[in-house]
Parts: sequence; C-alpha cells; structure tokens
Amino acid sequence: MGRYLGSSCKHCRREGVKLMLKGIRCETAKCPVEKKQRNLAPGMHGWRRGRASEFGVRLREKQKIKRYYGILERQFMRCYRQAERGKGNTGEALLQLLERRLDNVVYKLNFAPSRKAARQLISHGHIYVNGRKVDISDYTIKIGDKITIKGSQKSIKKIKEQLESNPNFTTQGWLQLSREKPEATIVALPSREDVQIPVEEQLVVEFCSR
Ligand code: SF4
Repeated sequence: MGRYLGSSCKHCRREGVKLMLKGIRCETAKCPVEKKQRNLAPGMHGWRRGRASEFGVRLREKQKIKRYYGILERQFMRCYRQAERGKGNTGEALLQLLERRLDNVVYKLNFAPSRKAARQLISHGHIYVNGRKVDISDYTIKIGDKITIKGSQKSIKKIKEQLESNPNFTTQGWLQLSREKPEATIVALPSREDVQIPVEEQLVVEFCSR
C-alpha cells in the first residue's frame, strides 16, 4: 500500500489548520501553524494565496479530511462510495467510517501519539481485536469489539509508557478504556461531534459527486 513520505507540517500549512499529525510536537511552540510568519501555504509563492474558487474550496475540504486521517485518494474514494451506498447523510456516514478505522481508534485511545504511530503499532502486530491479531490499519471496528495489546511484555510496556506520558488524557464517550490492562471496548459508534477536525462534509460530498 502506498503512503505519503513527505513533510507532515506542509499539509497543515496548506490547509491552514492544525491537523495534529506529529503527536506531542503539535502541542508545542515548534508547530509552524503557531508561528505566524511560517503559517503560509508551502512553496515559493505560498504568501500569494489568493481567493479560492468554488471548486478550490471543495477540493481543500476533501484534501483536509484525507490528510487528517492520513489516507490516499484510492482509500478515501473507497470509503466515500461505501458511505454513498448507505442510508442517511453521506457526509456524516463518510466521517463515521473514517473515525471507525482501527488506526484512528488506536490513536484516540492514546495508545500512540499520532495516527502515523498508530499505523506502525498495528502493522507491527501489537494490536488485537476480539483476541485476534489485526495488522490492517483500515480495519473498521464495530460496537462490542474489544481492543487488546499483544501479550508480550515489550508491547504492554510500550503502550503503558504512552498512556502514562499523558495522564490527563480522556477518551471519547464511544470508547471505554481500561488503563491498567490496557484494553478497550467499543460501546457506541462515533457521532459527528466526535470528529475533531473543522470540516464541512457537505462540500466534500459535492466535490466527490460531481
Ligand atoms: Fe506540524 Fe503538528 Fe503543527 Fe501540523 S499541527 S504543523 S503536524 S507540528
């Protein structure tokens, strides 16, 4: 599977919002979005960012979602088509599907400092779902799924250290975390309010259904 190997901060600067792609660094003053003089679109002519066209506005909203969840175009469109086939609001269904990705869940449980780090944990076989190893980052979790850590001391120590590094961290209502073991249960499906990125999903639907 392809993956983006370039600068993460470039993505935030292009979208003009903090996408929180680099874990702990994103909360420090080193974040380029915090530094006004560097919060420009990347590239030589970043300072000349003009008024975007209607197409441009919709394109940026779609790119923002892709970059926030760290996925490429093909994976994004697969999710979009799945959301479109379902009943109800396509935009909300799309966001819910993306929130239910295993890498996002592992990140939201604070088992990893970023979605990128969560993907590495998963692909290295540290994460189990309902007692079975799952090494696919885009695995979609369901209500009742139990997320556990591989039985090895190394895996448990790694996750416990991450949890201890942020004792004030609270999980969202749809996730039930037990810090001692550590393990978690999915008690509900994520709602629109659980999506922390400022995005207008209706614009994304308009872009994708052109
Ligand atoms: Fe870089 Fe994180 Fe700031 Fe984004 S939020 S610009 S990834 S430090």
